[in-house]
Amino acid sequence: MANVKVTIDRDQCISCESCWGVCPEVFEQNPVDSWSQIVAKYQVGNDPSTGEAPANLRDKVQEAADSCPVTIIHVA
Ligand code: SF4
Repeated sequence: MANVKVTIDRDQCISCESCWGVCPEVFEQNPVDSWSQIVAKYQVGNDPSTGEAPANLRDKVQEAADSCPVTIIHVA
C-alpha cells in the first residue's frame, strides 16, 4: 500500500480541532497561528501544509479530512 499524501489549505483553517482530535498522529495545532498543520515527523520539505504518512494511517487521515467542516484537507 502506498503512503498517504496529505495537504492542508492552512490559511482557510477555522481551528475547529476536529482533524487533530480524529488523527493526532498526523495533525496538530500550530502554536503560533492556531491553524492545523502536519506533525514535523511527517512533513515534506519542512512545509507544515504538506505531508506524507505511512499507509497504515490512511483510514484515519481520510476520516480527519472527512470531518473537516471547511473541506480543506486533501488526501491522495
Ligand atoms: S478539521 Fe479543518 S478547520 Fe478544523 S482544525 Fe482541521 S483543518 Fe482546521
